[in-house]
This record gives sequence, C-alpha cells and structure tokens, in this order.
Amino acid sequence: MTCFYHPERPAVGVCKHCGRGLCGDCAALVDDTLACRNRHEQAVHGLNLANERNVLQSARFRASYQRNAIFYGLVGLLFVAFGLSQYRFLGLEGIFFMMIGVFLLYAGIANYLEGRKYR
Ligand SMILES: [Zn+2]
Ligand SMILES: [Zn+2]
Repeated sequence: MTCFYHPERPAVGVCKHCGRGLCGDCAALVDDTLACRNRHEQAVHGLNLANERNVLQSARFRASYQRNAIFYGLVGLLFVAFGLSQYRFLGLEGIFFMMIGVFLLYAGIANYLEGRKYR
C-alpha cells in the first residue's frame, strides 16, 4: 500500500477515519491511532472518545446485570427454601412459593448470561 496523498511513498498505516494509506509525513498520531495530518485528526479524536464511552458504558451494563443476577438469585433461593420448609404446613401454597423461587432463579441466570455479553 502507498500513501494516498503521495502515491510514490509507502504507507506506514491507515487513517482511522477514512481508511486511506498514510506515509510518515501525512500520518498524525491521535490517541495511539493514526489520522490524516491536518485533515482527520479531529474526526479520529472524536471516534476514539466515542469508543472510550462505549467501553465505560458496557462495563456499567455488565455491573448492573450482575447486580440483578445476584439479587434475583438470592431472593429466588429464599423463596425456594421457604417453600420447601413450609411445604408440610402450607401444602399447595408451599409449591407456589417454590415456583416463584424457581422463576426468580431463572431470571437471575438470564441476567447473568445477558451481562456476560458486555465485555
Ligand atoms: Zn504522504
Ligand atoms: Zn483520513
């Protein structure tokens, strides 16, 4: 590949904004990535900022899914344990509690799996 602006020179990399080849003179280093010097430096800086925000956002998503997973899991276990221990006294109602517990456990697992998508 050669430089887009100097076809006779070999490219050292490509601009992150437009994907054109850049020689040493045309390449500007913006946040550890390359950009066309005096052309796309600003655009590439904006791209990098947006990327950083995405990374932060997905970390937040993951954390909230994990919190939900723990919450549902614990409450679900509680319901199942309660239903089991009261089954002798409550009969059908105990089964009802266990069903709620299983449903909450399922919600917890679903949240856990969903949170694993963000990393
Ligand atoms: Zn050049
Ligand atoms: Zn460019």
